[in-house]
Amino acid sequence: MTATKAHPITQHGPLDADGFRRAGHALVDWIADYREHLAQRHVAHLPAPGAIRAMLPAQAPEHGEAIHDILADLDRVVMPGIVHWQHPGWFAYFPANSSYESILGELASAGLGVQGMLWSTSPACTEVETHVLDWLVHALGLPDRFLSTSAGGGVLQDTASSAVLVALVAARERATGFASDAHGLAGAARTVTCYTSDQAHSSIEKAARLAGIGKEFLRLIPADATGAMRVDLLESEITRDRALGHLPAFVSATVGTTGVYGIDPVEEIARVCRAHGVWLHVDAAMSGTAALCEEFRFVNAGAAHADSWCFNPHKWMPVNFDCDVLWVADRAGLVRALSVLPEYLRNSATESGRVIDYRDWQIPLGRRFRALKLWFVLRSFGLGGLRALVRGHVEMAQDLAERVRAHPALELVVEPQLNLVCIAHRDGDDATQRLIDRVNHDGRFFVSHCRFHGRLVLRVSIGALATTRAHVAAFTELLLSEAAAP
Ligand code: PLP
Repeated sequence: MTATKAHPITQHGPLDADGFRRAGHALVDWIADYREHLAQRHVAHLPAPGAIRAMLPAQAPEHGEAIHDILADLDRVVMPGIVHWQHPGWFAYFPANSSYESILGELASAGLGVQGMLWSTSPACTEVETHVLDWLVHALGLPDRFLSTSAGGGVLQDTASSAVLVALVAARERATGFASDAHGLAGAARTVTCYTSDQAHSSIEKAARLAGIGKEFLRLIPADATGAMRVDLLESEITRDRALGHLPAFVSATVGTTGVYGIDPVEEIARVCRAHGVWLHVDAAMSGTAALCEEFRFVNAGAAHADSWCFNPHKWMPVNFDCDVLWVADRAGLVRALSVLPEYLRNSATESGRVIDYRDWQIPLGRRFRALKLWFVLRSFGLGGLRALVRGHVEMAQDLAERVRAHPALELVVEPQLNLVCIAHRDGDDATQRLIDRVNHDGRFFVSHCRFHGRLVLRVSIGALATTRAHVAAFTELLLSEAAAP
């Protein structure tokens, strides 16, 4: 903690405003130093399990400590156990970008410390959010039905996992005529069933379990060779369930699956959903940001027919975790499914019907001012800046794919969609695993894996804010030479 070394803040116990100012400046310097020199670190060097805890005292301190000592422990205790997600060589999972602007938005949110459960508990917390999510409808080219000026609207959730749970509960209530809200699932005359592809994220299954549908009644529809849901199989499964007397209520389509970026044919899925009166949710967690660019608007296909749609600015858009946008086409249905109004929350603004109370759009009651960081990022980068970021990552991924295509030992498992490149060694899974291990052992880069139709896949997800062409070029050389090595 360099800035505090010269002038240690020795005051013990709770900080006063001046101590906060000095400690805050020191911490901001520390973050800037960390980010500036990140490329020199090993991306993901793990300590032995328990090594971090072993550095912590057995009990919490009885007497307050000096903030100088607390901040110094970021280097001593925390850093040895940090995996560097903001590293330019971060190609694992999907990115979880964090920009300076979003850090400042987060700080401002904590500084204000408001709890925006109702419009009346901090009108700015609600109105900035509503407005910025309307901006995004336009910026991403999504349908007007998601605008707050229509019957729908957007809300920030913590994660895509919460978004799908909220959507599923609203869908369940629509299908059962709000009987299950009133009487539990026993109140639904028929068994509620849901559908997603076998490539969908695990959060869909978790939502089905939490919403009382049960894993058994979440039908996993097989995907094709590209990772996209087979619509013919979806349709036959829904028809079969109806014949059995079940109540098909919810389909979650994915645009950009977690494994290989499969893109479900949302338009065709929407046709099936309409024919059977089923709620259509779209999980565009990773790919949603791409729609900032006209040429990638294929990710929005079918959006006009979706009942709900979510994407994660905390992935590709550089808004730090957590930040998910959920839009619904019918906010009244969502609010009816989730609203409970005790006396202590009654107020005249709510009763006027002229305000949004976001507590009714989510699972928890309380909520922080999460929109600030999104607002800061959109304004500081501008839509043009964000588009340049997306286009840059896609170009880098396509360049890498071109080199892989030309390499005799490697193949692309699927044609790369946008910024994910899925690679296998032609000699089989053991060779692919060896390649993953060697690339990660180098320390400058970090990739992860998935299994697709039984085959081990090395995934290269190019989307970190700090990644440049030079990093991808260096990675490409390492990958290709290791692939050729015995
Ligand atoms: N959906 C998809 C397609 C994902 O890839 C992920 C995470 O990577 C999720 C949902 C879950 O995201 P979250 O952590 O926001 O719940």
